[in-house]
Amino acid sequence: MKHLTDDMLWTMVAGPGAAAWRAHLDTCPRCRERFDEWRAVHAGLADLEREALDEREIHRLSVLFRARGPQPAGHTELWTRLLRSAPLVPMAVRGAAMPVLAEHGVGPYHVTVQVCEETAGAHHLHGQVIEGGAPAGRGEVVLSTEDGRLLSGPIDELGEFDLEGVGPGRYRATLLVEKVRVVVESLPVGTTDGT
Ligand SMILES: [Zn+2]
Repeated sequence: MKHLTDDMLWTMVAGPGAAAWRAHLDTCPRCRERFDEWRAVHAGLADLEREALDEREIHRLSVLFRARGPQPAGHTELWTRLLRSAPLVPMAVRGAAMPVLAEHGVGPYHVTVQVCEETAGAHHLHGQVIEGGAPAGRGEVVLSTEDGRLLSGPIDELGEFDLEGVGPGRYRATLLVEKVRVVVESLPVGTTDGT
């Protein structure tokens, strides 16, 4: 059986779901992990109804939900693949902070991301989303990690975005543009273990 979709996992968070899904969940660590993420989001949403999550946390949960929640009807989710990745300058000095440029794409969408180390451990991401050769337009970019770290920022009318102070790690980047969710599943920042 293929891995469970987010829709299936979300259904199981809210109710029992299908027996076959349950059986898969019992044997698949990857889906189990994703299920636990969803359960945490669900618990957070339930708290919203009770009261007093601070605004920051409400924002965090709503961003997480938009970026990783089930697709609203009529929306599309597209998963990119890595097209190329290269350091921007020669590897002349060992240990020097090198900007890295990566390009990810799916269908008409291309996402380029440049990662620069600003200060020790803090990176600056600059990127652009292109649709069919033109800027994809305004939207929102969300970086998230398995352990629940979350950063988000606007995508401007030129399809560009900037995120500052990004700690090292492996992120999922989700680009919300119009009715499309473009996903870069694995975006390494300040790690040297390749992609
Ligand atoms: Zn699975």
